[in-house]
Amino acid sequence: MPEGDTVWNTARVLERALGGARLTGSDFRVPRLAATDLTGWTVRASASRGKHLLLRLAAPGPVGPAGVTDWTLHSHLRMDGAWRAYAPGERWAARPAHLIRAVLRTAGAVAVGYHLHELALVPTAEEHTLVGHLGPDLLGADWDPAEVVRRLAAHPRAPIGEALLDQRNLAGVGNLYKCEVLFLRGISPWTPVGAVPDLAGTVALAQRLLAANRGRWAQSTTGSLHRGQTSYVYGRRAQPCRRCGTAIRKEELGDRVTYWCPVCQPAPPS
Ligand SMILES: [Zn+2]
Repeated sequence: MPEGDTVWNTARVLERALGGARLTGSDFRVPRLAATDLTGWTVRASASRGKHLLLRLAAPGPVGPAGVTDWTLHSHLRMDGAWRAYAPGERWAARPAHLIRAVLRTAGAVAVGYHLHELALVPTAEEHTLVGHLGPDLLGADWDPAEVVRRLAAHPRAPIGEALLDQRNLAGVGNLYKCEVLFLRGISPWTPVGAVPDLAGTVALAQRLLAANRGRWAQSTTGSLHRGQTSYVYGRRAQPCRRCGTAIRKEELGDRVTYWCPVCQPAPPS
């Protein structure tokens, strides 16, 4: 499940594969960029912002009506997207070929983007039009937990299970971390933000869980990387709670499903 930590890792993969290199070819398989050719462009840097990937490029000369040279290739992984780096000549085995949306080649590597969303090329100076609405990034240099608490508290009636997923409050938490954080804090996902006893502690725990999974693809909130033991509640419907043995429940909350233990996370007072 691509969440902030997965996107952070992906940005590092692209940095290692392409960073500082000149592109020897590009191939975009989306209508909007079908005519775009980045051959001769240089990859300046690869960054993540919440669940957005920003590949910063330098054109060999001024491009477009604005005549700028610094551009950003933006992509969003949502639930199913991925970038993979291959050596030249290596088989692209990660996903079926019909899911390929972008290919970037250098002398030493090939980056292949599968099922990318919101693929766009914008002047780097206009990145804020893509990511400016995001709250503080859990894994960013500008991480600001007090600002996150302030943003959450501004909507006290919102269920905490929805508020943690709202990237305008904080950028990087997806459904897995949301479910796990609320279990670990003993909070029902339906609790209004205004009734959460320690909002700052909840936000701090979300940041620690994501940070703990930086640098590896496996996501674990339990400390175990063994299959079937990596989460407390996420993906464990009808299985016994690891604390109290009660069957874990799964229900819709907003436009996502949520997993929780009805005993460890009692319903909010109505
Ligand atoms: Zn329980």
